[in-house]
Amino acid sequence: MARTHRMECTASPAGLLFECLDGCGRRVVVDGVSGELTIVDHGDRTAPHQGSSGGARLTSASID
Ligand SMILES: [Zn+2]
Repeated sequence: MARTHRMECTASPAGLLFECLDGCGRRVVVDGVSGELTIVDHGDRTAPHQGSSGGARLTSASID
């Protein structure tokens, strides 16, 4: 059974940067204006990822 990885959110000039805290290397950027999601590094594609930043919450569905 896949373990859910947690992602830490950091504000960057390009938008919100999410980095996996569980060491698989996944990194995702969410554009601050459009909300568009760009995967920078896929990391472990089989693991569900979940991250949160204030009111905005990303689920595995939106990150994958
Ligand atoms: Zn991960």
